[in-house]
Amino acid sequence: MQERLEEIRTQALESAESASSEEDLENIRVRVLGRKGELTMVLKAIGKLSAEERPKIGQLANKLKKEIETSINARKEALKDVHVRTFIPGLDPTLPGRQRRLGRLHPITQVMDEICSVFERMGFTVAQGPEVELDFYNFEALNIPPDHPARDMQDTFYIDDKVLLRTHTSPIQIRAMERHRPPMRVIAPGKVYRCDSDITHTPMFHQVEGLMVDRDVSFAGLKGVLTAFVQQIFDPDTLVRFRPSFFPFTEPSAEIDIQCVICRGKGCRICSQTGWLEVLGAGMVHPAVFRHVGYDTEEFSGFAFGLGVERIAMLRFGIDDIRLFYDNDLCFLHQF
Ligand SMILES: [Zn+2]
Repeated sequence: MQERLEEIRTQALESAESASSEEDLENIRVRVLGRKGELTMVLKAIGKLSAEERPKIGQLANKLKKEIETSINARKEALKDVHVRTFIPGLDPTLPGRQRRLGRLHPITQVMDEICSVFERMGFTVAQGPEVELDFYNFEALNIPPDHPARDMQDTFYIDDKVLLRTHTSPIQIRAMERHRPPMRVIAPGKVYRCDSDITHTPMFHQVEGLMVDRDVSFAGLKGVLTAFVQQIFDPDTLVRFRPSFFPFTEPSAEIDIQCVICRGKGCRICSQTGWLEVLGAGMVHPAVFRHVGYDTEEFSGFAFGLGVERIAMLRFGIDDIRLFYDNDLCFLHQF
């Protein structure tokens, strides 16, 4: 009896191992474990054995039954794998797996977050405002009279006479001053819109606007804050230069240049051989702006500044065409 079991075992395991389809395996199962199967017949005959042999053979037969079942199931799983590998047309199982690409923040978002965090460390809080803005906030309250060239139809996207897409983030400072009394330190990051498109301009771009109002805020404070900012965003030893300029909403006004990050001041194509790059506009808040929001110009003074995020990102990453940021070319975007 024991020999018969051994014979069944060898045969069953061998044929299960070499089975090439689920149908084969089912046939083997029926032949060995079925109602009239080889092993089933052995189990049925156990009753005729001597009382001494019965438990021993019974145990062996049951163990064998489990072994054969396991073997058949294992082969069934293996065949499934082979099936997938062999029968999907166009699938080459020898090719390496495709890597899942990780998403990441757009370079403009990265730079904007970085700019905000520099100012946040200096005590500024982030303020938001609408992109579809009233003429009053975008121009009038910022001391830009109706005949100012910045209102030219070519620069501004008007929705109607009184409503437009904001051309700068400066209206946010008006809204912030309407809501809060000084002292205040806010930065306003966001999208702005101008009717303009070439290698350094896109119709939509990003600005960060800053405003600080308090008693005794001076131009020296403005220089200190912006110099600290430039040196954290670029090199700690970057030279900074303040040039007199004009903005309707600040007086005095300045444009802030940094030493060219490409040529280190020697002169190159990027800085038009001047050795300097303009990165910020700033100035002391014009009294007319304070009057629009009801601040006492005798008591309070303040400074404001604004910068283009794309400009900073282009200098940081050495990019010479602003439109690359908005082409949605993943090869380009994945470099950052
Ligand atoms: Zn240069």
